[in-house]
Amino acid sequence: TRRQRQVDLLQQVAACGTWEINTRSGATWCSSALLLSLGYPGDYARLPLRRLLAHAMPTDRIRVFGLIRECQQRLQTQCRIDVQLRVASGQWRWHELVMESYYSDDGYLARIGGLVIDISQRKKSEEQAWAAAEFDALTGTRNRRGLANHLAQLNEQAEAAAYYLLMIDIDYFKHINDRYGHPAGDTLLVEMAKRVHEALRPEDCLARFGGEEFAVTAGDLSHQQVVQLGERIRQRVAQQPFYLTAGDSQAPMMVTLTVSVGIAPLALTSDLDHSQAVAVAQADQALYAAKEAGRNRVVAHWQP
Ligand code: GH3
Ligand code: MG
Ligand code: MG
Repeated sequence: TRRQRQVDLLQQVAACGTWEINTRSGATWCSSALLLSLGYPGDYARLPLRRLLAHAMPTDRIRVFGLIRECQQRLQTQCRIDVQLRVASGQWRWHELVMESYYSDDGYLARIGGLVIDISQRKKSEEQAWAAAEFDALTGTRNRRGLANHLAQLNEQAEAAAYYLLMIDIDYFKHINDRYGHPAGDTLLVEMAKRVHEALRPEDCLARFGGEEFAVTAGDLSHQQVVQLGERIRQRVAQQPFYLTAGDSQAPMMVTLTVSVGIAPLALTSDLDHSQAVAVAQADQALYAAKEAGRNRVVAHWQP
């Protein structure tokens, strides 16, 4: 019929399917577009509820049930949620579920139905945009903004533990570029990020602050312990050389690098921008003192 053609067209252009579940009998109905995308014949008459639900990621399934219950309590008829569904190819793809609840006269949930829209392309763009905004393309660590957002999240958890900022700057990195070239310098920056990361605890956060400067935030440590952490980073870099491979024929070149580290306390306060700026300024001062004192050393802002 014409109406059926309109519905088919809608589903085609919107990359969506329609579905309905009778909550009493457990009977399901899915549009052919949805059936096909999940890997069933388009005319598959009765997909068992259990099999339909098995297409949703288990954690998402729990979220969906929670949302339905919430809607019921609030006497809300429509709700929406993003979930990952396993599609015909076996891949997990992001979908938006738009659900409409139908209640019987005695107030019980009788049917739920709605749309399921493939939003994987949008999610991918969102994730890419997020990664580009918060992570450094060269080393894969966070960037300045990524670190700020990490701190904002910590702040929300409201554990007023003592935090620290460690600023790490490679010593004489200009010489490295001059001697081996900028691409080799880039390779060393990637290796450096790995080295520093290895010295950290899982809860510590590493970011590239631009150039050959890295920052680390670490919490739950005494003054003495955070200096030890700085030392661990310094030693991990200095104790073993880095290797640069320049073409297949040549043997890898051995490069020794050192870093200077400046440490400052970092207060997690409601004005995070300000406390971060203070910590960066103080850690920079300590870093400068480390450079002045001969490089390849750790200086804390509170040290005389
Ligand atoms: P020091 O810190 O010990 O005082 O000396 P430095 O030579 O490391 O001096 P500084 O920190 O002021 O200079 C940073 C140099 O790092 C400048 C530039 O040549 C190099 N650099 C900055 N960003 C990059 C990058 O993305 N890739 C490469 N290869 N080099 C970079
Ligand atoms: Mg620098
Ligand atoms: Mg430097």
